[in-house]
Parts: sequence; structure tokens; C-alpha cells
Amino acid sequence: MSNANNNTANAPASNAPATNFIRNIIDADLAAGKNAQRRWSGKPGLGAQQLAGDIDPAKIRTRFPPEPNGYLHFGHAKSICLNFGLARDYGGRCHLRFDDTNPEKEEKEYVDSIIDSVKWLGFSWEGDGENNLYFASDYFDWMVASAEYLIASGNAYVDGQSADEMRASRGTLTEPGKDSPNRNRSIEENMDLFKRMQAGEFADGTQILRAKIDMASPNINMRDPAIYRIRHATHHNTGDKWCVYPMYTFAHPIEDALENITHSICTLEFEDQRPFYDWLLEHLAQGGLLQRPVPCQYEFSRLNLTYVILSKRKLIQLVEEKHVSGWDDPRMPTLVGARRRGYTPEGFRLFAERIGVSKSDSLIDYVLFEDCMREVMNEGCERRVAVLDPLKLIIDNYREGQSEDCVTHNHPFKPEMGTRIMPFGRELWIEREDFMEVPNKGYRRLFPGNMARLRHGYVVKCTGCDKDAAGNVIAVHCEYLPDTKSGTPGADSVKVKGNLHWVSVEHGYQAEVRLYERLFSHPAPGMRREGDAEDLERNFLDDLNPDSVKVITAWLEPALRQAKPEELFQFERHGYFIADRYDSKDGAPVFNRAVTLKEAAGAKA
Ligand code: ATP
Ligand code: MG
Repeated sequence: MSNANNNTANAPASNAPATNFIRNIIDADLAAGKNAQRRWSGKPGLGAQQLAGDIDPAKIRTRFPPEPNGYLHFGHAKSICLNFGLARDYGGRCHLRFDDTNPEKEEKEYVDSIIDSVKWLGFSWEGDGENNLYFASDYFDWMVASAEYLIASGNAYVDGQSADEMRASRGTLTEPGKDSPNRNRSIEENMDLFKRMQAGEFADGTQILRAKIDMASPNINMRDPAIYRIRHATHHNTGDKWCVYPMYTFAHPIEDALENITHSICTLEFEDQRPFYDWLLEHLAQGGLLQRPVPCQYEFSRLNLTYVILSKRKLIQLVEEKHVSGWDDPRMPTLVGARRRGYTPEGFRLFAERIGVSKSDSLIDYVLFEDCMREVMNEGCERRVAVLDPLKLIIDNYREGQSEDCVTHNHPFKPEMGTRIMPFGRELWIEREDFMEVPNKGYRRLFPGNMARLRHGYVVKCTGCDKDAAGNVIAVHCEYLPDTKSGTPGADSVKVKGNLHWVSVEHGYQAEVRLYERLFSHPAPGMRREGDAEDLERNFLDDLNPDSVKVITAWLEPALRQAKPEELFQFERHGYFIADRYDSKDGAPVFNRAVTLKEAAGAKA
């Protein structure tokens, strides 16, 4: 199978997706016809524009709203699968919206990468005549209009207190805040000040627009939160048009409303912001700026995985301090890293479905993630043979210079995937662990006097081995039983317990193979552990696995020379490997191990 972008998730992943609290809410909303009368002009806009449109053909609208300030990671994949999956399953649309309201941090490189990754996961924001790819920075005019409406209706004021003064008057969880001396300015004065903020009359941080709500609210987020600030900075999209920028908590609900989002799904840390989300949209709807019903916010718990770091700040540190080769290092929990590693979009979607969504914090075992990948790859990947730790096997009674073709199925339970030829010869590479001069109890593979089958080939009987001066085994000798070739009537005439894979010395070839392990050796990198001293601060970097990658030269069967970049295979007994999309050359692919088979290689013969 290929890991390139050739799949689509627009068809449901399974017939009956597992239900969850968000699906229950949507079911109830649909049953009540809550959003059925909403109108959609075909593009984002204020209420008047939308009301002039037709009934929204989308039953629901969701969105995935990344800030283009980094690469997407496994946590984002959960959110993408959730939002696009709901839209798919409910006859809705999911928008990809870049939340680029912060002028300093965003970069085009991230936008491109995010677009690629969402597509790679198999989702699309285009279809049915719509192209729902948006940039929040295109909405600044509407955001300013919304802010001005709040001022005009007496619900916002300009405050010139210093940041420290504001912090000091905000109060605490147990104490109410104090009103700003500027809280009771007239509407005219506030409007004038906000216009002058926009005109560039004030320096950064000297004035700020605040919603006028309640300085005594038990929810600190409702104590007159800042909604517009001054930043004299060039924005990648709007250039120098603005020197005022909306705060995230103000911008986000408006973005949702402009886009007709019905269900705005976010992670739990935004739960305390929901009252402000509702307050804001309710006021703007009252003022006629937005159509009703306004969007609603729902929160779910974010993905946490054992052995994995999903904090953007820490991921940046890994890249900048060169603990990894880059954002797309196959050990990184980014989607660009995952793609190179060989993890599949289907695997991510299966994983998202298995873990479901809930409101309780949970730590998911990395094994569950790997199992989803294995499950998908076991179905879809052709088998190939690679010898990772080669030892030469010489068949003394096989004529020198002779070779023959062994026919083998590409997939053990999918005959439709065809067959291929594996050339067999007098000298073969086998795994070093497949021979023991003095066998352990229960060992079934090659040892002097024992018989084993060379997969797809013959039964051989081991006769001994050669050693170098230091006593290391450098070659194993055997004799083959000519009537026992797989697929011939004599194949079952001799029963053996061991079954070995091999590559012909004459026909096989050597290639670079990278064996990846977990990037961290502790399940909770950098977290305090039981028994840690009170004052001990752990550093997640101390939990880096020093052996997270091993680069080897393996012997591969000849058919692998033709592997295309991003083609994924099961290397029998070893796991799933992908031809690296960047380092593979025509006719000379380099392979990355995505994941081992369930049983450690060589656990059974
Ligand atoms: P930042 O700290 O920069 O805000 P972020 O991870 O929240 O980082 P965003 O680009 O804002 O990055 O995230 C886009 C969307 O992905 C948000 O809706 C967010 O809720 C969701 N998301 C981010 N991390 C996770 C996670 N670990 N699990 C599930 N969803 C996540
Ligand atoms: Mg965020």
C-alpha cells in the first residue's frame, strides 16, 4: 500500500460510528430542527448577508481552526478526524480555518504544511460547490464592526490602565475584581478612543478595548476581558492595514458565527471561556449583526499519549536543539513525521474512532495507537523479505551457479494482491538468530542435525557451521531435500517446525534500513514520578531514548528495488516498513520501520 495522499475519508469509516456526547447533542439538535432555518450566502459574513442567502444546505457546520504557528501533531489529528468526521456523517461541512489573527507568529510554511496534512489524513473542505478554506484575518473588518457595536451599545470601553494595574484589579478566584477608573466613560469617548487606537495614535499596550461585563463574576474570564489590543506589526495577510488586533477569545466566536458554524468543538481548557463565547454572540445577535441561532461551543478532552510529547513549545525545542532531524523526523509526533515514519491516514482515522471523544482527561497507551496502525497495514501491505542481521547459509548439495524461481503470494489472505518471484540459489542470507550451534531448549530453527523449511523453498537439514579465528559463526552449512519444494506434491512429505525467511546472496541487494524506536523511554516524559524528591524538577529531555534510531544495512529481496517512495510493506517477521519519501533514489529505496509486528521479531519461528 502507499502512504501518499490517495485515500479519502469522505465515506464513513464504518457503518455505525460509535456514539458519543457530541453526537448525542447533534442528534438532539437535528431532531429539534434547531439549525434548520439558518441561511447561508455561500461565504462567511454578517447576519444580513447570510439572511439574503438560501437555507443552508449543510445540516451542521464544524471547523478545524489551527493557528498557523507550527506543524500539526497527533492531537490535531484527533480534532481533525472528529470535526471532519461529524460533518461527513451528518450531511454537513467542515471548514478548514486558519486562525491567523495574531500578527507576529504565523508563517506561510505552516499554512502549506497544515493544508497538506489535512488532505493527507483524507479529508476535504471542498465539495458540493463549496470551498470552505478560510483565513480569520479576512474577517478583521467584521471584527472591528462587532467591537464598535459593543461600544455603541454600552458593552465595551477603552481602558488605559497598565497591564500591571489591570492584573492587580482583576481579583482572584476568591476575591472579586475592582472596576477600572475608565469603566464609566461615555459611549462617545470610548468610540473616539477606539477610532484613535485604529488610527495608530497610541503605542502598543497603552490602551485596550475591554468588554464591560462584571468585575465581580465568579468566572474571571467574565471580568471585563480584553477584546482588542494595539500591535503595531505587519500581518502576513493584511500587511499594515491594522494596528489593532482582536484577542483570541473575542475573535474565535465571531469567526464561528461568520462561517455559520453550528457546533464549535474545542478542547477542555476553553470550558471557562464558554460563558464569554455565549455572552458575545448573544449581544451581537441582539444587535442584528448575526443571524440566530448563534453557534455553540462544546468541549472535549485533548489527546494525551504515553511516550509522546504534544506540547508545541517542547516540540520546537526538540527541533531547535537538534534532538531530531527536523519537524518531519520519523520519530516526531507531527503528521509530517508520521507520514515519513509510515503511519497511515487510515490508521489515524481508526485510532480516532477507537479512542472516541469524552470530557474526561485520559492518557492513551501508545500501544493502542500502534495496534491501529498494524491493523490497517496488515490488511493493506504486500509482504516482502528482508534480512536485517545477515548470516550466510550454504546449501552444499545445491549445484553451484544454479538458481530457480520460488513463487510467493504478496499477501497471505488476499490472493488478489498477486504473486511475485523470489530467486533461490546455493547461498542465501538468513537471520543470525535463525541458527544456534548449541540450541536452547525448544529452539526450532537451524542447529546441527535439525531440519527447517526455507519459506517458499525447500526443507534443509543443517550440517554445521564455519567460524572465524575469534570463534564467531560466519556461515552455516546445510543440505536440501530436493522433493520438498513449497507448492509441489512433496512439500508436506517432511514435517518441520521451523520456517525461515531468506534472501539469495546472488540476487538480493543491500540497502539502508532505519529501525525506529520510541523517542522517549519513559511513558510520561518529564513528569514527576513516584518517589521523586519534593524539589526535583524533571526535564523531558532527560527522558529521551538514546537508542531511538538504529541505521543498518540489510539484505533485501530483489523485488524491493522497485519500491516507490512512500510504498509500505510488511517485511516478514520484522514489521512494517516504508520507502522514505525523501531519501529514496530511483531503484534504491531507503526504508523506515514504522512499527514492529505484534510479536517481537523472532519470538517464534
Ligand atoms: P497552541 O498552544 O499554539 O494554541 P494548539 O495545539 O492549541 O496550540 P491550535 O493550532 O490552536 O494549536 O489547535 C487547533 C485545534 O486543534 C484546536 O481546536 C485544538 O483544540 C485542537 N487540538 C490541539 N491539541 C490537541 C490535542 N492534544 N488533542 C485534541 N485536540 C487538540
Ligand atoms: Mg490553540
